[in-house]
Amino acid sequence: MTKVCRECDEPTAEPIAVALEHVASTAGRVVYLCPVCRFVLGLLPLDQHPKGSDGRVRYEEEMPA
Ligand SMILES: [Zn+2]
Repeated sequence: MTKVCRECDEPTAEPIAVALEHVASTAGRVVYLCPVCRFVLGLLPLDQHPKGSDGRVRYEEEMPA
C-alpha cells in the first residue's frame, strides 16, 4: 500500500502511520511518513502509542525507560 510521506512528499511502499490529524469537518486522518523520515524525526509509530493516545505526534524519547 503506497502512501505519500508527509515530510518529503515522496511515495513510499512502507508507510508508517505516526499520528492522527484532527480536522474540524472530518474524522481524524492518518499521517504517514516513509521509514527514513520517521527515523530522522524520531517519531513513535502510531501503533506503539500508549492506550488512550489522542493521536498527536509523539517522539521516541518520550517513551518511558
Ligand atoms: Zn519521507
